[in-house]
Amino acid sequence: MSENSGVVYAGNGSVQVVDLPDPSLTLQDGPGVNPASVGRQCPHGVILKVISSNICGSDQHMVRGRTTAPVGLVLGHEITGEVIDTGRDVEFIKVGDVCSVPFNIACGRCRNCKVGRTGICLNVNPDRPGAAYGYVDMGGWVGGQAKYVMVPYADWNLLPFPDPQQAIEKILDLTMLSDILPTGFHGCVTAGVGVGASVYIAGAGPVGLAAAASAHLLGAAVVIVGDLNTERLAQARSFGCETVDVSLGHPQEQIEQILGVPEVDCGVDAVGFEARGHGHRTATEAPATVLNSLMNVTAAGGSIGIPGLYVTGDPGGVDEAAQSGSLSLSLGTGWAKSLSLATGQCPVMKYHRPLMMAILHDRIKIAEAVNAQMIALEDAPRGYREFDSGKATKFVLDPNGSVAAA
Ligand code: NAD
Ligand code: ZN
Ligand code: ZN
Repeated sequence: MSENSGVVYAGNGSVQVVDLPDPSLTLQDGPGVNPASVGRQCPHGVILKVISSNICGSDQHMVRGRTTAPVGLVLGHEITGEVIDTGRDVEFIKVGDVCSVPFNIACGRCRNCKVGRTGICLNVNPDRPGAAYGYVDMGGWVGGQAKYVMVPYADWNLLPFPDPQQAIEKILDLTMLSDILPTGFHGCVTAGVGVGASVYIAGAGPVGLAAAASAHLLGAAVVIVGDLNTERLAQARSFGCETVDVSLGHPQEQIEQILGVPEVDCGVDAVGFEARGHGHRTATEAPATVLNSLMNVTAAGGSIGIPGLYVTGDPGGVDEAAQSGSLSLSLGTGWAKSLSLATGQCPVMKYHRPLMMAILHDRIKIAEAVNAQMIALEDAPRGYREFDSGKATKFVLDPNGSVAAA
């Protein structure tokens, strides 16, 4: 293996590409690694040569200083790669397999994994249920916006692609299986999206756009995407969505203009805790805005899928309550309408295989929907900056230059 390098959080809204130790099948100490995890043995793990690793809105929360992520944390939870070494206990995954890595790390052995709830595995994080690569409070697993990364419980976690050559050809689509496509799809499934549904998706970032493409795949009749970013709204219209500009006011009125009624069957929050206010309040953050407006616009008896991230600690929160993750929810509205709310990490493994088949057989054009763009690892700081400025692009890193070479 040649020398490793990757993207780390450098503080003050920035990232850097630095040299990193080569990954091994033992968890090493490092920034953000829980002391209780140091030395953890992973004979069930593999080493991947990373083929693609995407920049995510979830990374931005950390880079903007809106979490307790420590400087030096190696970033990257959206990983696709080729297996170059396997641990003693890996039975079925082989060297040479090209695989999608679910961003959730799961053991496959605990009560939650056994029922498919891999986003809240009980054995991979000393602090709380659930873990991810390169993420604050998520167990200290080293991130994969790097040339090489270790994946534990490889037989359980990895999704090998049927044809490695075809995988490289479709990499801009398949790379979305590690997170945003299953996440958007899960948002829609938990919102009850099915044939003929009307859906309002708040947020036209990559997760919102992936949710919109998923809603089409699930048979929705009308997919309405809301944002205040006009470039991202145009991106949503480019593949058949209706749009709502929340800088013009609360979404109800514009939804009524589209549907004839001011409500939808299903609601999806693809924004999270850094939500802006509506109308003249878009300049300021109002973390409960999206949840409250979804409770307003979702029809009685409906469901709201909430892939948008909410945190337990936010140093940059607008007030003391927000800083500890407490929001001012009008839960009475939701209660009176018997709404169901579904939160949490997407259990990627539940969806990644069927969505891979949908990609391989051209049932969904996810790279086009999110405007995926491949960049070199060295360009990661620019990718983060442009994504943070609101560009309608999903940046995908090519850490080993293997896609560019192909
Ligand atoms: P992003 O930051 O690129 O997109 C968020 C969008 O929301 C932005 O375009 C922003 O302009 C818009 N927005 C802000 N306030 C709004 C409002 N009031 N109404 C409508 N739109 C508004 O992020 P992303 O990569 O698309 O991710 C979206 C969220 O999903 C993030 O919170 C991310 O952490 C989360 N996420 C969750 C999971 C999961 O498993 N649950 C997985 C991936 C990402
Ligand atoms: Zn992500
Ligand atoms: Zn588990």
